[in-house]
Amino acid sequence: MPLYRIEAVVLSHRYLGEADKIVTLYSREKGKVRAVARGARRPRNRLLAGTQPYSHTDFLLFSGNGLDSISQCELKESFYSLREDLRRMAAAAYVAELYDLLIEEGENNEGLFFLLLSTLHLLTDGEEIELSLRYFELRFLSLLGYQPQLFRCVHCGSSTKEGPLRFSGQLGGVLCPDCWGQDGRAVSLAQGTVEMLKRFLTTSPRALRVFKAGPSARRELAAALRACLEYRLPRELKSRRFLALVQGDGF
Ligand SMILES: [Zn+2]
Repeated sequence: MPLYRIEAVVLSHRYLGEADKIVTLYSREKGKVRAVARGARRPRNRLLAGTQPYSHTDFLLFSGNGLDSISQCELKESFYSLREDLRRMAAAAYVAELYDLLIEEGENNEGLFFLLLSTLHLLTDGEEIELSLRYFELRFLSLLGYQPQLFRCVHCGSSTKEGPLRFSGQLGGVLCPDCWGQDGRAVSLAQGTVEMLKRFLTTSPRALRVFKAGPSARRELAAALRACLEYRLPRELKSRRFLALVQGDGF
């Protein structure tokens, strides 16, 4: 049976029988992969540590009929606090569910792998979980090819440097006052919030700590990015309720 190696993050796991589990991985080399981890729920099993949710692990897999199986794995980073702290856990579950839901198996995008790793680092070490998620959402949409139009009106193309703006998730960008009627569900967005979104596009994750945002900018960022994501989602996110429960509504 052919063997192959991948470096991956565990997005989720599901129990199978008494001792096995099926893991969904997002890998650097092959994108999303589902695989069986035999015996991984037994104490002291050699696959136990590397197949926990959010673990960053090197895997050796073999492909056969049906699902691939994990032959060996070596844990690189456990992201332990994402499984211990409820707020961080809820945020990580949300990120993992978006990867699971919006990316098909066989779609390979190394940028998405590195975004996942850097987001898990932000959620593990950072104090600013909320802005980390907003940053992640925008970069994730961009890497999937859905980067919202922030630099001019998405409908008429006119400059949006002045005046109040709205954001349409359905049209995928900002609307000038003349075009607000194009989407009755468009949400208000102050100029400063649009500028922050533009800066997210060019800022490295490490530089995110210099960003400051007040309550109204946070609400606007959350509403705009949520509208954009929900337009792309095939169903409601299960993790959203958990996130709202531990972080507060509108998070
Ligand atoms: Zn317009």
